[in-house]
Amino acid sequence: MKFFISAILFLLSINCYAFSITWLGTTCIVVSDGKTSLLFDPFITRPSLWDFISLQKVKSDKKLIEKWLAKVDADKMVAILPSHTHYDHAMDLVEVQRQTGAKIYGSQSALNIAKGGKVASEKMQQVSFNQLLTIGAFKIRILEATHPPHLFNILFLAGKIEAPLESPAALYQYTVGESFSYMITHPDGTILYHPAGFATAIQSPLKKPKANIVIQGTANRKSTEDLIEKVLLPYQAEIVIPVHYDDMFSALKKGIVVRSRSDMQEFNRTMKSRLPKVKVLRPKYGEKVTYRF
Ligand SMILES: [Zn+2]
Repeated sequence: MKFFISAILFLLSINCYAFSITWLGTTCIVVSDGKTSLLFDPFITRPSLWDFISLQKVKSDKKLIEKWLAKVDADKMVAILPSHTHYDHAMDLVEVQRQTGAKIYGSQSALNIAKGGKVASEKMQQVSFNQLLTIGAFKIRILEATHPPHLFNILFLAGKIEAPLESPAALYQYTVGESFSYMITHPDGTILYHPAGFATAIQSPLKKPKANIVIQGTANRKSTEDLIEKVLLPYQAEIVIPVHYDDMFSALKKGIVVRSRSDMQEFNRTMKSRLPKVKVLRPKYGEKVTYRF
C-alpha cells in the first residue's frame, strides 16, 4: 500500500512544474510558479508606427489586454515590474494593474504613470537599485542597468517622467526613467531578466549568481559575442530566451514579425557555435513554457 501511495505521489510530481515563463511580445514576460505571478514590462497594446510618428495621443486597448491576460496566470498576478518607462515597456502599466489588482514596483517615472492613472497609493511602491523584493516564493534583486543607445549613439526619449502622466498620452511622453534588470531567485531556479541588449548594462556590485535562464533583450545589441562574453558566460546561463527582437509596431495577433535590425539568424548561429550546450528557446506569443530543474 505504502509503495502505491509513493508511486502515485511520484507520478503527480512529474506533472508539477517549478515555474513557467510566458512571453507576450517585446520584453513583456509573465513568470509564475502557479501561486504567484509576476509581470515584467506591461506592453500589449502595441500602437502602430503611425501612432508613434503622428504624435497623437494613444490609450491602452482594454479588450486586447483582457484577452492576453486570460492566457497567463492573471488571477495570481501580484506584481508588475516595468524595467524602464519607454512606452514599449510601460504604456499598459495602469490598465494591467486595473485588470489584475497587482502592485506596481517601479521607478519614480513608473509611479508617475501609475499616479496619472489614479492607481491607489497602496498598489505602488518605488524601488531602487540593489533593493531586494520578496514576493511569494520569489526573491527579486533590482539591478542597475543602462539603456542602450538606439541609433548613432543616441538614446531617444531620455530623461524622467517628472509629473503624473495621464492616459491617453503621446508615446514620446514616455521617457526612459531609471533602467532596471532583475535577478529573480526561486527555490526551484533562477532567472536573469535583462531586457537591454547592452552587455555592460548590469552594474551591480553583487557577485554574479548563476542564472538557469537568461531572458535577454537582443534589440540594439552591439554584438551577440558581446552578450555572450559579458552576460551569458558570467551568469552561466543554461537556457536563453531572446526577447525584443520582434516588430513592436505589429499587432500581437499577427504573430511574430522579426524586426529587420534584429538579425536572429546571426544570433542563433553565433549561439550555436560559441555556446552549443546552452538552449535557445523562442516561444510563440502567449505560449507558456514550463521549467523543472
Ligand atoms: Zn527603451
